[in-house]
Amino acid sequence: MQRKQTTTVHVGDVAVGGDNPVRVQSMCNTDTRDAAATLAQIGRLAEAGCEIVRLAVPDDKAAETLPVIRAASPVPLIADIHFDHRLALAALDAGMDGLRINPGNIGGEAKVDAVVRAAAERGVPIRIGVNGGSLEKDLLHRFGGPTPEAMVESGLRHVALLEARGFHDIKISLKTSSVLNTVAAYRLMAQRVDYPLHIGVTEAGTLVRGAVKSAVGLGILLSEGIGDTLRVSLTHDPVAEIGVAYEILRSLGLRERGPEIVSCPTCGRTEIDLITLAEKVEEALRGVEEVFTVAVMGCVVNGPGEAREADIGIAGGRGLGIIFRKGEVVRKVKGDDNLLPEFMKEIEAFLAERRN
Ligand code: SF4
Repeated sequence: MQRKQTTTVHVGDVAVGGDNPVRVQSMCNTDTRDAAATLAQIGRLAEAGCEIVRLAVPDDKAAETLPVIRAASPVPLIADIHFDHRLALAALDAGMDGLRINPGNIGGEAKVDAVVRAAAERGVPIRIGVNGGSLEKDLLHRFGGPTPEAMVESGLRHVALLEARGFHDIKISLKTSSVLNTVAAYRLMAQRVDYPLHIGVTEAGTLVRGAVKSAVGLGILLSEGIGDTLRVSLTHDPVAEIGVAYEILRSLGLRERGPEIVSCPTCGRTEIDLITLAEKVEEALRGVEEVFTVAVMGCVVNGPGEAREADIGIAGGRGLGIIFRKGEVVRKVKGDDNLLPEFMKEIEAFLAERRN
């Protein structure tokens, strides 16, 4: 897979674009004014592998909380600001690592000057975030709606305001809730600029729907080499977005983090409660960063063979489980209730062996 060559920007100590890995981002859904709750969520996101976290900064109170949050955050933070350039300046003063702001919407040249100057002084990048739901009226009129062309045009207008001031520390996103329009917009933008692109399908929906839409949209773009950083948007706990993001990246061979859990779909041969077992194994392995493959299979007849490539696996039989490594049986465990704890012991032993 040939990645499109883009420039590199630094969000705190995380480099985005160029040859750097596709970065995983999310956004807190806590009230930014509540520093404790926001920091707790940032911590959970970081633990799950989130590399950059965005915070909404809707008002002065939120901006006043930023220094405390910034000081304690383990990952770089981006301030998401709409319209109010004072909030952008306050976010920069608070040490925020990135701004998400559309310079064309902040009320005129002087205000753009002030924000760009402050960002440039601190080496803080600006992400231009075009959203299909809030396009400029003249573009909607000219293009007959929030078309991919209209979105690109809008993005380029904001880019021009920054470039005119010699500012090139830019990332761009072009989000809509339509997978096809999102893909088309990013393809067009990738032909027009070399700035890193932050990709995502916005308002994608609840867990399953959102994960599928994101996987399709982001998967198409990433497979074409487009995308330097991404967010999976879910109407859910944002921590779930991180798992989905890494699965998308893993399935394209772009990045790996944590175990890959393969499990069979179950069939008439399944003799144990495999769905629950697979879910519990996944739960127990949450937060593990090591890359390995775990198989959870329904039957001893086909399970180990079907999961031959797995580093470690379990296959269910009547009242027992067979633990295997690379398709070879290593142990039998009796009693349904023992399957999970004994399997987890074997996984821990496998990981301990690998670490030595
Ligand atoms: Fe059915 Fe066994 Fe295959 Fe699972 S591993 S789908 S139980 S044949």
